[in-house]
Amino acid sequence: MSTLDPIHWEDARAMGHRMVDDMFEYLRTLPDRPAWQPMPEGVKNALQIDPPHQGTHLNMVYEEFTKNILPYPVGNIHPRFWGWAQGCGTVTGAMAEFLAASVNCMSWGGDQAGVYVEKQVLSWMKSLMGFPSDASGILTSGTSTATLIALAVIRKKYAPQETSDVGVNQSIHPLRFYCSSETHNCLTRAADITGMGKQNVVSVPVNARYEMNTALLEEKIIEDKKRRHVPACVVGTAGTIGTGAIDDLNKIADICARHGLWFHVDGAVGAVLRCSKKLSPLLSGMERADSLAFDLHKWLFVPYEAGCILIRDAELHKKTFSNPASYLALMDGGVTPQHEFFFNEYGLELSRGMKALKVWMSIKEHGLDRYGEIMEQNVSQARYLESKLQNHEELELVATGPLNTVCFRYVPKNWDTKSLNSLNKKLLVEIQERGVAVPSPFTTDGKFSLRVCITNHRTKNADLDFFLMELLKIGRELQTTKPWEA
Ligand SMILES: *Cc1c(COP(=O)(O)O)cnc(C)c1O
Repeated sequence: MSTLDPIHWEDARAMGHRMVDDMFEYLRTLPDRPAWQPMPEGVKNALQIDPPHQGTHLNMVYEEFTKNILPYPVGNIHPRFWGWAQGCGTVTGAMAEFLAASVNCMSWGGDQAGVYVEKQVLSWMKSLMGFPSDASGILTSGTSTATLIALAVIRKKYAPQETSDVGVNQSIHPLRFYCSSETHNCLTRAADITGMGKQNVVSVPVNARYEMNTALLEEKIIEDKKRRHVPACVVGTAGTIGTGAIDDLNKIADICARHGLWFHVDGAVGAVLRCSKKLSPLLSGMERADSLAFDLHKWLFVPYEAGCILIRDAELHKKTFSNPASYLALMDGGVTPQHEFFFNEYGLELSRGMKALKVWMSIKEHGLDRYGEIMEQNVSQARYLESKLQNHEELELVATGPLNTVCFRYVPKNWDTKSLNSLNKKLLVEIQERGVAVPSPFTTDGKFSLRVCITNHRTKNADLDFFLMELLKIGRELQTTKPWEA
């Protein structure tokens, strides 16, 4: 008989213990390693071999993991990783992933723990976000997927009834979506995939604080109505990807109410700020959303991937995804009784794992208040970095927001914009390649800048000091060598 279980359980157990010990040591000693390092060609080649038909002893496979994979992650677990908007995970989250994979619950529905853990987590999320308890929701792989789900539900509501059967015809009276020019590109992608069309996502300009200009928003809605387009939804953002700006969510909610539009919020980064009593007033109006998409893998530090969509109209949500089949028939008892809950009626997937466990364990262990403290800490670290830039002779603040994001550049005297952009592009790459830190690029007003977005419970102020010190050293070096001119 052939099986994939260990032949010698004691050996396998010893191997498991070794892996756990190694990973704890790896996480404990994180700050001693570079924030990132490029993968050598040889290592990349080792990961491009033909599929093995014969097995290798697990010890050797693990050796290869420690040699070729472990040293070369993107770096987001490191205390000096501040690129894009990435979370750094937690030790408990990692352990929970192991537990979830061991139990390996296929959490589509029925009478089982996977479903009840997820329902528990979703009820916490509704409560945290100020949503009513009869709203619906589902955990997703992230905000991109959450947004896709939201757009499918919105289409169900606003498109002609037969759309689900005959497909989408957006050519005569297209559904229109409105968002600010700072909105994440997952929205246009979702509009494309759902057949709404990218050109029906109307980009509304922002004000000096990178927030949606709501007066222009209303003009665009009225204009579209005159053209017999069908205004369907306004997307507000709670924490833009560029500068962490938060749209005036109450104003947007008012406009949606006035015109009968759906109010969706992209809270990928910012929604979870409701964990902090101090910061949650910034999100005022978010609780009025018809749907809210947000991430748990960013500022809630749940290991990748974990996001969430909440939808006020649970019935409409279910109507969008429910699609009965005889092989999924519900019974009068057993594993799939009629009275139990089925997540495949609320999202894209049928087969799905127990994502909820890592969320449940983490929130239980730390408590929501602790997350709030970390977010406040990150926001004040951004202010600390900003204070270091003030009146600095060689550094210039380019853009900032109310949260955890600061964009700045290195500015030697008497350099024109074009040369400054070349210099700062090279500076960003050098800082990453020398393992100092990982900021990401951001360009506004034609100025290329280094963007620091601190969603990191491991960052200390000393990390920011070290980063600036190294940055100035490298900047001065590049300023004289000008390698981009070579
Ligand atoms: C990260 C992000 C997204 C996309 O979320 P994923 O979890 O990466 O799919 C959407 N909107 C904003 C504002 C983001 O920061």
